[in-house]
Amino acid sequence: MSMRFDDFYQRSIHDRDGFWAEQAQLIEWRQPPQQVCDYSHPPFAKWFAGGVTNLCHNAVDRHLAARAEQKALIAISTETDTEKVYSYRELHAEVNRMAAVLKALGVEKGDRVQIYMPMIAEAAFAMLACARLGAIHSVVFGGFASGALASRIDDAQPKVIVSADAGSRGGRVVAYKPLLDEALKLSSHQPAAVLIVDRGLAPAPMRAGRDHDWASLRTLHLDAQVACEWVDATHPSYTLYTSGTTGRPKGVQRDTGGYTVALAASMKHIFDAEAGQTFFSTSDIGWVVGHSYIIYAPLIAGMATVLYEGLPVRPDAGTWWGIVEKYRVTHMFSAPTAIRVLKKHDAEHLHRHDLSSLKGLWLAGEPLDEPTAAWISDAIKKPIIDNYWQTETGWPILTLCNGVETQATRFGSPGKAVYGYNVKLIDDATGEELTGANQKGVLAIEGPLPPGCMQTVWRDDERFVNTYWKSIPGRLIYSTFDWGIRDEDGYYFILGRTDDVINVAGHRLGTREIEESIAAHAQIAEVAVVGMADSLKGQVALAFAVVRDAALAEDAAASRALEAEVMKLVDSRLGAVARPSRVVFVTALPKTRSGKLLRRALQAVAEGRDPGDLSTMEDPAALAQVQQRL
Ligand code: AMP
Repeated sequence: MSMRFDDFYQRSIHDRDGFWAEQAQLIEWRQPPQQVCDYSHPPFAKWFAGGVTNLCHNAVDRHLAARAEQKALIAISTETDTEKVYSYRELHAEVNRMAAVLKALGVEKGDRVQIYMPMIAEAAFAMLACARLGAIHSVVFGGFASGALASRIDDAQPKVIVSADAGSRGGRVVAYKPLLDEALKLSSHQPAAVLIVDRGLAPAPMRAGRDHDWASLRTLHLDAQVACEWVDATHPSYTLYTSGTTGRPKGVQRDTGGYTVALAASMKHIFDAEAGQTFFSTSDIGWVVGHSYIIYAPLIAGMATVLYEGLPVRPDAGTWWGIVEKYRVTHMFSAPTAIRVLKKHDAEHLHRHDLSSLKGLWLAGEPLDEPTAAWISDAIKKPIIDNYWQTETGWPILTLCNGVETQATRFGSPGKAVYGYNVKLIDDATGEELTGANQKGVLAIEGPLPPGCMQTVWRDDERFVNTYWKSIPGRLIYSTFDWGIRDEDGYYFILGRTDDVINVAGHRLGTREIEESIAAHAQIAEVAVVGMADSLKGQVALAFAVVRDAALAEDAAASRALEAEVMKLVDSRLGAVARPSRVVFVTALPKTRSGKLLRRALQAVAEGRDPGDLSTMEDPAALAQVQQRL
């Protein structure tokens, strides 16, 4: 039965415990919680204290009675041209085998297991097996190189590392094992064992006594039955590192009970999803979206989940949409960048597939600009739902909860505050709450954070408090470090990171606003605007624009003409104050593997500084091109 979203939201804030006690019934407990939320030591929240449960039980075992033969995991690789479907029964068997192997290698409750793997089914088995054992997994994105991996190994101190011989991207094999070996030379911590899934893609020299082959150990445990380790609701399920602005990466620590409840509730209220449907998230297990919406939430909901290794445009731009057609995908989750990649190709690739099963496309991770939203909306004729959140929260902060009440989308807005999140806009100078419409402030969340959000920074409570809760003068409130505004109807608009704001001649400008206006130009596929130091105005905006017609970027006269057009467009949309001092045309922008624009690197290069750590960069040639065109 549907109800008004506003009532639903208000109840989640004002009858917090009553609301979440109901949501807690969406999962199975070995022992029910005694207290819904213990917030006696702010900002540390203990959700569902006294409750005892297991994440793997809720994601896998509990479905055996009703849907053992239904699809659970659909592992597709367009890199190795393989496709394998695991039913819940088969997934259960594989997870038991992996759990038995990890146990044989010494893994016990509370031990850390680092997972450095490509997008293959064994990565899912490993995550679920850790949850089964009450071990704390720490997935490191496969695109990270040795240095990044080493610092995470030293922080997590894993007993076992699970990895593979190699990943593959765009048909190019990336050997993982040598990177891991190199990382282990750099790290001071050494794991007791390394488990390698050998895909036969690259040589993986094994070190006797330490390194073990998954396939051989698996055959020793084919019939293994490893009981779920029942853990307290507050027992950590995993850590996931986010690259902080400086220094050591932060290990975002998540609990078990709160996370399981939050994900189960999100599938119902946000995604309006049901058991038996199919979820396809195009993210990677190395990122938070991969944890929540490739692995755990769809399985908790009894759905089939697609695990995809490959590019969105290989063999052609129809590849994802063929998967939607073949597996009758109901829910698709991706990132705006991926859509902008598709946008460079003919929409015919999307049109030729039957997308009738699809209920919607959810996009997150970065601002969804209006031209991109309009293009994909037109191409697939399905609801496009923006959602805003962070590694720290684990599930959406802002979106439209269509499972509660169907709400109108507003282009440019990820929607309203999601139930459970007491979202506020704060004046960063005074710390005062901004209650009026259309006022710009720091998007902050009043404690306690709802279930599923980070408990703390791994082994560093102080850092958790100081980084997230003390940035706003005079109050203990969680900062997202994003600027936002809220309109009179409660729709929020994200204006970029508080650390990316630019100030031109005393005017504060959101680079995103400038980007949106430039992206509206028919010749522009994608654009990034950064602030560049300027002796007269403090900062000026500098735009880097990817042109649809690559030849144009090479032609000086045509570039100049286009630059003038773009400036005129910004003038007409935002005013001359926002006009970039220069528009540099390129054929690609420097990004991380997850599609995040490397703004800081762009800005540094523009200002003639060292771009810093580029270990997460997808394509170094893009930055080189920027450098050359400047
Ligand atoms: P991450 O922790 O990598 O997921 O990055 C979180 C950050 O990405 C947020 O703090 C925002 O700056 C940005 N972000 C995520 N989703 C959105 C969205 N839907 N719209 C605008 N910015 C977003």
